[in-house]
Amino acid sequence: MAGRIFLSAPDVGSLEESYLLGALRSGWVAPVGPDLDAFEREVAARAGVAAAVGVSSGTAALHLALLALGVGRGQVVVVPTLTFAASANAVVYTGAEPVFVDCDPQTGNLDVPLLLDTLDRLGAHGRRVGAVMTVDLFGGCVDYTALLPACAAAGVPVVEDAAEALGATHHDRAAGSFGRVAAFSFNGNKIMTTSGGGMVVSDDVGLIGRCRHLATQAREPVPHYEHVEIGYNYRLSNLLAALGRAQLHRLDAMIARRRHLRERYAKLFAPIPGVRLLNEADTGSNCWLTTIVVDPERAGWSATELGRWLASVDIETRPVWKPMHLQPVFARAARFVTGAAEDLFTHGLNLPSGSALTDAEMDRVEGAVVRFLEHR
Ligand SMILES: *Cc1c(COP(=O)(O)O)cnc(C)c1O
Repeated sequence: MAGRIFLSAPDVGSLEESYLLGALRSGWVAPVGPDLDAFEREVAARAGVAAAVGVSSGTAALHLALLALGVGRGQVVVVPTLTFAASANAVVYTGAEPVFVDCDPQTGNLDVPLLLDTLDRLGAHGRRVGAVMTVDLFGGCVDYTALLPACAAAGVPVVEDAAEALGATHHDRAAGSFGRVAAFSFNGNKIMTTSGGGMVVSDDVGLIGRCRHLATQAREPVPHYEHVEIGYNYRLSNLLAALGRAQLHRLDAMIARRRHLRERYAKLFAPIPGVRLLNEADTGSNCWLTTIVVDPERAGWSATELGRWLASVDIETRPVWKPMHLQPVFARAARFVTGAAEDLFTHGLNLPSGSALTDAEMDRVEGAVVRFLEHR
């Protein structure tokens, strides 16, 4: 066998090597430097916003974004239940409480009518809503056309968790530009990587300045170390920013490759009854992960069974995020749920989607799926 096929492995090569070596040889090895400055400008430009600050992870970016908006104790933040734990954890770090809202079954993204209902109910109970966090799930943007006016009318700022969505668009507007403030992740398995890192972006230059200050131990701009508030050590290093710049150069090509894989999955599963691709209609998705949703009654098999079969031939898949309201750690959190996220968790499967996947590897995945279907 030709080795393990991963869900979303890093896609790096000679360009990354030359950027990283260039940064190393420039002497800018210490935390900040010219590659970091340039990387911040380039990501801000890509997201179509005025300013950005590079940080050590997407989780740190979310934490800072919430802090910069003044979110804290005594407040709640609305968070989609179908997300990675980091979205909700960042809320808890600030002292605020997450309130979980369910998703639209077709897209997996926040159920906007349910969100509006939730905001009404929280208001009626006198809860102070510090922010609505949106998550652009698996690289597909939330329906911001419906969501943004509603949040504006309610006077609640939007924090966009675009950790999975760099390069995605919604009606030709870039992911990361929809929230008052947004967070990207450059973790190892994301659409592009700095091996670990993140960025806070916003059109509000002052807000980004505030994040930069908090991320740099909240050190006051005087010669000695002066601190008037608690800060964090959250900055991204110049070396990793250099890696990020190389990746950003290749972002469009990497998205195109992931889209090509999604199209192959779409063709493969189109004739199979009871199987659909999650959020297939979204043409602006960056196609970070392709997900199938299986109705076991109609298909005669389950997502779990296919996942197990693929694992047996060394092909990695992953269940859709387990909803936050079902996580033991959030057992006591408030929730407004319809069952849609739980359904996607039960019946969904993330398939190998990385841009480094070769045609031969994709042939192997397809062949394994075909053999699975023949054995049913
Ligand atoms: C990956 C991810 C994060 C966290 O990013 P890290 O860089 O791993 O800290 C946050 N939210 C979502 C939705 C993610 O997928």
